[in-house]
Amino acid sequence: MPIYAEARDNLLSNWKTKLIHSQANVPQGFRSLVTPVFRGSTTLFERAADAVDHWDHDESPYSYGLYGTPTALELAARIAELEHGKKTFLTPGGQSAISLINLALLKAGDHVLLPESVYGPNANFAAEMLGKFGVDVQTYTPTVGEGISADLRANTRLIWCESPGSVTMEVQDVRAIAEVAHRAGALVVLDNTYSAGVYFDAFAHGVDVSMQALTKYIGGHSDLLLGSVTTNDHAVYKSLGAASQQLGLTVSPDDCALALRGMQTLAVRLAAIQSAAIRIAKWIAARPEVEIVLHPALPSCPGHDLWLRDFTGSTGVFSFVLKKRYRRQDVVDFIDRLRLFPVGYSWGGVTSLAVPWTAGAHRPNWAYGERLIRLHIGLEEIDDLLADLTRSFEALPAYGPGA
Ligand SMILES: *Cc1c(COP(=O)(O)O)cnc(C)c1O
Repeated sequence: MPIYAEARDNLLSNWKTKLIHSQANVPQGFRSLVTPVFRGSTTLFERAADAVDHWDHDESPYSYGLYGTPTALELAARIAELEHGKKTFLTPGGQSAISLINLALLKAGDHVLLPESVYGPNANFAAEMLGKFGVDVQTYTPTVGEGISADLRANTRLIWCESPGSVTMEVQDVRAIAEVAHRAGALVVLDNTYSAGVYFDAFAHGVDVSMQALTKYIGGHSDLLLGSVTTNDHAVYKSLGAASQQLGLTVSPDDCALALRGMQTLAVRLAAIQSAAIRIAKWIAARPEVEIVLHPALPSCPGHDLWLRDFTGSTGVFSFVLKKRYRRQDVVDFIDRLRLFPVGYSWGGVTSLAVPWTAGAHRPNWAYGERLIRLHIGLEEIDDLLADLTRSFEALPAYGPGA
């Protein structure tokens, strides 16, 4: 095994040294269906003269575990393949994918645009970190489409999109935004977590960088945190790689192995989750207690026509809003009565979830008061989920028609 074993044979007899430099052998030629979990911080070079430290595996061989073992590179390559991208970087979570993109592509004096419907921690990173480093941050109306041109400035470098948006689910005209951005020399970044990278083809719609929280559908079982950043642009690739090295972002090969396993069942999980979520969303929309259901496949969702035009499917996270007569206490009681919907953040796993939502600071135009409930639909029997929801709807207080 060790390349230097021959030369140092006489040094290998002491048992303590053997513990470190063993000459034990195992049969070669094991083949399985599973990507091996390669762990390793140090990776070895043939000769001293070969030692280099470079993140880019296209330019140099494996040089340090920080830049990924073959397990991570396999997952990255499969995400790139799935999203029709050229290159993917993995990050410790979706949020670090967001911060990597911002730190790699923005500098002091740049202007960045984020939709009001953007994932909350993305807005917080922009307001606090980017603000601290001299980047000008502005939010925009997610449904603005080509009207985004009014928000562009000479120094606009990046336009974030998230479609559908977090919690309020606005579907964006990503193609129109990308056309405006590219005319002005700006880049478009999409948080493509909702579509699992498959129900919306980011690069076919003009996106320059697509990121996902692999934590959600790729992992699919609520047992790992990972993010991905995918691009087709060589200059962006180089900036992301350098920033990833400088920030020291790395991922666990064990988590990557779980994500690789999750990917194998992505198609069947998404199909089951999609049809269950649509059925439940339509059922909720017919309840007299409900003001609106925010699910992209329902006409009530802002941007539903764009979803029809641009998406090939929908997934399991959506929201609904109780009528104005209900109060915050009714909302939390409604959720606490549910037995098959534990309360928790994140989504994309096999367990249905429910969580109440109110406006963050980046959402001045939030229209739903304290009456919004976000659901994630998992893989339980649909009739059981409906029975659970029925019980909780029926236990809401009757305020009378005037209330
Ligand atoms: C969950 C989520 C993230 C962040 O992912 P983590 O892995 O939890 O850090 C980013 N964007 C969206 C849309 C998400 O739902």
